[in-house]
Parts: sequence; C-alpha cells; structure tokens
Amino acid sequence: MCNLSGTTLGYAQFPGGGLPATDGVVIDYEYFGTIGTAQSPFNLGRTTTHEVGHWLNLRHIWGDGGCDFDDFIMDTPLADEENYFCDVGHVSCGNVNMVQNYMDYSDDVCMNLFTNGQKKWMRALFEVGGYRQNLLYSNGCGNPKSITCNDGIQNGNEVGIDCGGNACQPCTNCKTFSVTIHMDDYPEETYWNVVNEQDEIVMMGGRYGSPLAGDSIVVSSCLPYGIYTFNIYDDYDDGLCCGGGIGDYQIEVKDGFYAAGGDVFASTESKTFLVTNTFTFIGPGQNYNDPNNWFYNLKPTLNSLNLKIFNSDCIIPLAPLQILKGTVQINPGVDLRFE
Ligand SMILES: [Zn+2]
Repeated sequence: MCNLSGTTLGYAQFPGGGLPATDGVVIDYEYFGTIGTAQSPFNLGRTTTHEVGHWLNLRHIWGDGGCDFDDFIMDTPLADEENYFCDVGHVSCGNVNMVQNYMDYSDDVCMNLFTNGQKKWMRALFEVGGYRQNLLYSNGCGNPKSITCNDGIQNGNEVGIDCGGNACQPCTNCKTFSVTIHMDDYPEETYWNVVNEQDEIVMMGGRYGSPLAGDSIVVSSCLPYGIYTFNIYDDYDDGLCCGGGIGDYQIEVKDGFYAAGGDVFASTESKTFLVTNTFTFIGPGQNYNDPNNWFYNLKPTLNSLNLKIFNSDCIIPLAPLQILKGTVQINPGVDLRFE
C-alpha cells in the first residue's frame, strides 16, 4: 500500500500475499492515467507503475525502514526513508538516493526507472515455478491458448520446459527439484528463491497468506544441470521454528541425488546443491567430507547399502552402518566412504 502525502493513492497485493480473490492492484481514480480525473502531481500514471511493481514483488526502494533495511535488490542504493516531490541529489545512508525510481514516493514527473535488478526480480515471477508463471499462458478473455511442446513455457503436464509428461519428449538435461515448506504460524513472513551460478533467480515463492499457517506447500521444477543455491528468508528473523509455530522446509533433487532441510534459523538460511545425473563427487573408495551437513537420499538398487563412517583420520570406523533403502544423514566433520 502506498500512502503518499497522507493520501492513499493505491494498493496492491504481493505475490502470495493474500487470498486469490484479492490478488490485484487498486488505484484511486484521481491518480489513474493522465487525463480526466487525474490530479497533479500524480497525473502521469506512475501510481499504477508503482503498484504493479508491488504486485510483481518489488518493495519500496528504502526497504520500509532505516539504513539497515534493504529492498533485496542489489543495484538500488540504500535509503533511510521515502523521498517526496523531486528531491534529486538527496543523500542518505551514504548514498545519493534513487528518487527517480518508480518504487520511491516522488512526484510522477520525477520518476522514470526500474533498475536491472528490479527487472530480474519481477521477471523471476514468470520463470518455471515462479508465482505468476501461469499468466504467460492465460487466455485472457479469448480462446484458450493451446499447450504445445515448443511454446517455451512449462505447461500442461510437462515436468520441464517443453519436455516430460506424456505428450512431450523426455527431459534429458534437467532433474526435478522440489521445495516443500511446512509453514509456521506466520506464512506471511516466509519467502524463498533458488539462484543459479549466474546469480539469476530460477525459482521463487512467498510471502504466503496467513490462511496457510500450519499448512504445507510443494513447488517443483525441472532444473538444468548445474550448481544452485536455495535461499529461504523470514521477515521477523525467527525462521520457521520455533518462536512463532513449528515449521520446516525440505528441498530435494529427485531420484536420490540430493536432499536437505531446515527449520531453526534467523532471517535467512542457504543451501548450495548440485543438479547432476551422476555422483561424480563420491564413490567407492572415495572420501567425502561434508561441510554443510548435506544428506543424501542414496536409494541403492539393492535392498541395503553398507556404509562406513570414519573419523577425520579415516582410520577408526565410528559407526559402521547398514541402511535400508532410504535416507542417511551424515553429520558434519565426518568422512563418508563407500565400501
Ligand atoms: Zn508502495
């Protein structure tokens, strides 16, 4: 919501920020468009640009707080509060404030830009698994757009972009990655993303509506082979457990390649993982020291798998294990060796 000069010009719902029935943008008729009832200095349509920015997951450029609050966009300078009128050159938090940004509170005539970072942030909503991806194949008010295996989007029962499912060719260069979040009592504080090696957001979700408290969501997408980082955030710095309810998250690359999870953290937690079709980093006779407490869904093809876990000298078996098909958790600081 935007309250400029004590007047509400409009408001919008963040992705996942409320019920589907209220998802959208509202603009006061006095600040909409450029003619008729539009009133200066908000008569150039920028209120709509700003509110659609919120609808596409952008925060105010000053992060709605002092210099410690960010809008999570790398290329927008920190600012301590909103700017009004056209305060070009105003300095706060050691930066010249970007008063020309659509997500500030400047007069319409003063605003003329989103940054590349903001653009990426918005476009991420339309990536595979993105919150507003469905919009890409909305039929609007016309005839339904047919789903094809070369329309460049994951639709129908495809498991990747134009691949998988029963109609398209199998996906050969990606693996299904899933995110499961069991919400605590404040889903509206929780959001997450997955970034690739180029720091591009390839999946994202949240913040979620409060009716989801205690409930679970599952989002999956077929990620091309590569290295990714999953980041999860909590606005109130109390993680998913256990200050405001008991929640947790699980992430998994299907077919036993990687799984991890968490629950207790403060404002954020990250897990870096590899999407691949082979265990190139671990195998018989090799040692693997895991600094991040990853655990692997090994899923052996036989009914059991013999594992030995050694101390760091790799001499004394700490706890020889025989596990059935399933998951074994490997604690940090120990070596895992297949025998
Ligand atoms: Zn606003």
